[in-house]
Formats: sequence, structure tokens, C-alpha cells
Amino acid sequence: MAALHGQQNRLYIPHSVEQEMSKHMFASLPMEACGVVLGEAAAGGIRISRFQPIRNVAPDPLHHFSLEDAEWIRCVFNEPQLIGLFHSHPRTAPVPSIEDLRSLPMFAGLLQAYLIGSPKLTPETQPQMMLNAYQIHTGNDQSSESKPIAAYNLYPAQLCVT
Ligand SMILES: [Zn+2]
Repeated sequence: MAALHGQQNRLYIPHSVEQEMSKHMFASLPMEACGVVLGEAAAGGIRISRFQPIRNVAPDPLHHFSLEDAEWIRCVFNEPQLIGLFHSHPRTAPVPSIEDLRSLPMFAGLLQAYLIGSPKLTPETQPQMMLNAYQIHTGNDQSSESKPIAAYNLYPAQLCVT
């Protein structure tokens, strides 16, 4: 992690890709939407190049998301540029929930970027998405006395729409 020292984490996303995420999120309402983002980590930040929606197969898709297994596995094996996860919070702010943090170990070894979108609540001429970006960090939890566990955390990243 030394490379990240003194440097603000940035996440670059093309406007067109952000629009695709937004469309997918609004089309999925009132359910949570999810998918993966492809791109690469370069000096100065993560550059996203594509969004790939994945079906939400959670038993309660109004309040949870669960990536459809076959589509997720296909991405893991066939997409060398797999770099992040996107999901939406249709009714709450686009910040990680306790459950989001709990499920991080499922993805954290594979992904570096974590994106959450929410519909903007103020009336707009066009529906807009609030999008928050986070970077996934790994660190050993030394505070646990009996068994040290790998702890994953989300650090806010600066989102730059290009
Ligand atoms: Zn969430």
C-alpha cells in the first residue's frame, strides 16, 4: 500500500458509463440494481472503462443485492479488467451499509473499486443518480486478540467523471 501514501484515491469514470449505471439503476427500481465495472488501476487512480449489469437474485431484492452466480463467475474468469462492484440504494443514501461491509470479504480479493448509486431525491428535469466511489483496502485487524482476521475497509475515493 506504500504506493498510495500521500495520494488521494481517484476514480475516473466516463460520463457515458455513469449514464449506463444510472439507467440500469432507474430501470431496476424499486429493486436494488447491481453489476460490475471494468477498468484498470494506473498511477494516480483507477480508470473505469465499462459497466456490466448483473442480475440481482437476492430473495429480497427490494433491500438486498446478490449477484447472479453464473454471470458473476463468467466475469471473474473472462474479464481480465474486472475491477469493481456497483450496486444501488433505492431508498437510502449511497453510503456503505453494515451489510455491505460484512459482505466485502466475498469480493475484496478480486476488486479494488466499490460504487454505490442512489436516485437523487430533489425534483430534476431528468432523473439523476448520486454516485459515491470507494476504494477497497485490506489490512489485518490487530485489535482482535484471539484470532487476527483479514479486515477489509472502504475508503472514500474522489470520483472524476470524464
Ligand atoms: Zn448497499
